[in-house]
Amino acid sequence: MAKRDYYEVLGVSKNATDDEIKKAYRQLAKKYHPDVSTEANAEEKFKEVQEAYDVLSDPQKREQYNQFGHEGPNQFNGASGFGGFSSGFGGFEDIFSSFFGGGTRTQRNPNGPVRGRDLKYSLNLTFEEAAFGVEKEVSISKYDTCKDCSGTGAMSKNDISSCARCHGTGRVTVEQNSLFGRIRTETACPECGGAGRTIKNKCSTCKGEGRVKVLSKFKVRIPSGVEDGQTLTVSGRGEGGINGGMAGDLYIQVNVRKHEIFERDGLNLYLEMPITFSQAALGGNIEVPTLGNSCTLKIPAGTQTGTKFKIGGKGITDSRTNTTGHLYVIVNVVTPTKLTSEQKDLLTRLSKTNENNESFFDKIKKYFKR
Ligand SMILES: [Zn+2]
Ligand SMILES: [Zn+2]
Repeated sequence: MAKRDYYEVLGVSKNATDDEIKKAYRQLAKKYHPDVSTEANAEEKFKEVQEAYDVLSDPQKREQYNQFGHEGPNQFNGASGFGGFSSGFGGFEDIFSSFFGGGTRTQRNPNGPVRGRDLKYSLNLTFEEAAFGVEKEVSISKYDTCKDCSGTGAMSKNDISSCARCHGTGRVTVEQNSLFGRIRTETACPECGGAGRTIKNKCSTCKGEGRVKVLSKFKVRIPSGVEDGQTLTVSGRGEGGINGGMAGDLYIQVNVRKHEIFERDGLNLYLEMPITFSQAALGGNIEVPTLGNSCTLKIPAGTQTGTKFKIGGKGITDSRTNTTGHLYVIVNVVTPTKLTSEQKDLLTRLSKTNENNESFFDKIKKYFKR
């Protein structure tokens, strides 16, 4: 339904004086006043006249209306006119939605079960703990259902009675005078604060809250294979519910420390392994550390620095998926910096034998000689 122009509503021109506006308003208000009028839709028309007058009789609002119309920066039908009107929780929203018919407000049963909040917990693990899995004790400070009253907040069952004012619904309807006439709004019951019930003698442990702050300590099994930054869900270990609601969940975020020699990528492990020049040249078996027992890796003769070897099944096992990664060994040929005279002698003899080989270095030498 399009909003009618305020000047049109009052039947005056845009240049009408304040007196003309006032005069037009008086006549129309009399004509449509719901108590006396016999016109059809008198109440709506009365509201329309009232609203038009409210704007056009105020120089500032009239100015804005002339400039911006109904959709102005300070909309005349907005909530701005109702400042300081909110009563209790949900009051403002109620007024708002009753004006705009905006959506359906879900009526929550005030005594219905409410699920407890989920909680987050940060857990530090060593590289090995994450790789092999571990049992860890977790201690968190949280709200939990009061055991003495089972979350009711009352000393005994007989202390709980339905609120007489709202008949247990937790909501009351109030009528308010406004720019538009009388409007009915629903708001939280002031008697019981929206709970729908009153408690004669409150539980002494939780002071009627139904929940108490506790330090909760328990053990958590961390599966093997968890990665840095991963989140594990422990259901039912969050905050306690209200009115018999389920407890929330606990989310454990794991932080995995770095390892001194192993790098990790998913379930695979990477290791940089130094080998001597003679091991690289002659080949042989070398001892390689793993996360468990060390194992033997066979290096073929003539291995270049940077060569990557795969040792299958020596990575990390994820107990959740029952899959195991591999260990990759990257060999680095180390050039010796300190030599004994015997080693020097041997290497000198070796370099002389090299001269007889047609090696890559020889090709370079020949290239420069041309
Ligand atoms: Zn009540
Ligand atoms: Zn209690």
